[in-house]
Amino acid sequence: MFLQSVPRTARLLRLLLPALPAAAMHRSYTLDVAAPLLRTQAFIDGRWVSAESHFPVLDPATGSELARVSDCGPAEAKQAVDAAYRAFHTWKRVTAKERSHLLRKWFDLLTEHKEDLAKLITFEAGKPLRESLGEMVYSASFLEWFSEEARRVYGDIVPSPATDRKILLLKQPVGVASIITPWNFPSAMITRKVAAALAAGCTVVVKPAEDTPLSALALAELSQQAGIPPGVFNVVPCSRAQTPSVGEVLCSDPLVAKISFTGSTATGKVLLKMAASTVKKASMELGGHAPFIVFDSADMDVAVAAAMNSKFRNSGQTCVCSNRFLVQSGVHDLFVDRLSKAMGAELRLGHGSEAATTQGPLINSRAADKVALQISEAVSQGARVVRGGRRLDGSFVEPTLLTQVTPSMLCMKEETFGPLVPILRFDSEDEAVAIANACDVGLAGYFFSQDPSQIWRVAEALEVGMVGVNEGLLSTPEGAFGGVKQSGLGVEGSKYGIHEYLQHKYMCFGGLKA
Ligand code: NAP
Repeated sequence: MFLQSVPRTARLLRLLLPALPAAAMHRSYTLDVAAPLLRTQAFIDGRWVSAESHFPVLDPATGSELARVSDCGPAEAKQAVDAAYRAFHTWKRVTAKERSHLLRKWFDLLTEHKEDLAKLITFEAGKPLRESLGEMVYSASFLEWFSEEARRVYGDIVPSPATDRKILLLKQPVGVASIITPWNFPSAMITRKVAAALAAGCTVVVKPAEDTPLSALALAELSQQAGIPPGVFNVVPCSRAQTPSVGEVLCSDPLVAKISFTGSTATGKVLLKMAASTVKKASMELGGHAPFIVFDSADMDVAVAAAMNSKFRNSGQTCVCSNRFLVQSGVHDLFVDRLSKAMGAELRLGHGSEAATTQGPLINSRAADKVALQISEAVSQGARVVRGGRRLDGSFVEPTLLTQVTPSMLCMKEETFGPLVPILRFDSEDEAVAIANACDVGLAGYFFSQDPSQIWRVAEALEVGMVGVNEGLLSTPEGAFGGVKQSGLGVEGSKYGIHEYLQHKYMCFGGLKA
């Protein structure tokens, strides 16, 4: 239902009453996309392959079954690795210009089908449709960006210390890359890696999250339509029960040269241990715990709008979501009041396919339980609920605003991945920076200030890989996405993303006559 089409009195009522996701739970919603994009088999060596068993893909808003997908095991994972290894020997010799053209065709197809691809995201991940469309534009943009970067992989000719020798540094693709991705950006987390890998001349095996295999398989369908050769892009979906054994093949098979993972820090450590047995290259995009600091000098309109964007995108389920809100004493009450009003006016819970919805469900009930625990633990330690606070039907959680939060509360110690804003009051810049840095991860951080000296001091002092200064949205293929501390290894996007899939070969050209 479109909010604009509701009569004014009903609209006012709707603003005053809590949204009722129970309505979403009990209605039926139909996933209606063009048939070739709704794939349920694995994609190995350019063919659609059935596994012996299947697992259900559920709509997280209603719990209803959307599809049954092939549940790959170690045998299919090995088949995919072997296919990728065979394909590598020809793909690496395809000219950069031709690889660029194929990636561009894939980009064009994603753009052409973005409405259907967005529906897949909304139904399997619960994301509001407008955001899913945004994800599709973002996802496609990595194919476009790396189709351009493919042609700009330059080596070096280095001045030699000897007259009879020349020194050259070549850049070559590393080989087969295993790509393991999460459910929160079911399309973009794949293209952010795969576009760079294919541009560099690598081939890939993708294992998507159990919750969201459909978007990955739709990407495979379009890769085939784009003319990406068999074996270059493979997808092995599997259930959570099969994940460890599939993961073991992808992270320890000797034919795999590189693993690239996006997901939790805990899983990243498990995969790194497996990859160590055969000394693979590794890129890790792991969890965050972003501080969002509002200083007394901040522009309040900018800070509140940025808080809404950076906290409530995907119902708080992004790795760069603001997690810990630190607000200076002079503007604390004003910020709380303004943010609470914005939350009341702008946030609507419901099924992602309804136009009025801005907040879908969390991915599953485990995720909702985690947020509910953080809220109840904070309240039991003295936090005050300003807005929200309830866990609702299914995996919905009310957008929640807490004040009087302290650093010892659970919500300040671990990543939330849900629609919770815990606000801690501080007095000095040093105090805010110390609290922000007192954690073992460092992905994104945000702060709001109009004092140029403070902007430089704080931007340099925050221990994070990405910093938003008076800005709550950071992601773009032009930027270098990555974290420090236990948030990861390496970067994605930017001119550096392709280097994660390249290695240097030093060539010493001797015996030359002066
Ligand atoms: P997760 O539990 O770590 O899962 C991520 C992926 O790893 C899924 O495909 C999962 O498969 C797979 N996996 C789990 N155990 C595995 C194993 N033993 N072998 C091989 N694969 C394994 O993370 P999540 O809950 O899906 O995602 C949320 C986390 O991702 C958050 O911490 C968030 O901050 C992080 N994240 C980081 C970034 C970034 O760029 N830094 C971006 C997005 C998300 P199953 O689905 O089958 O369990």
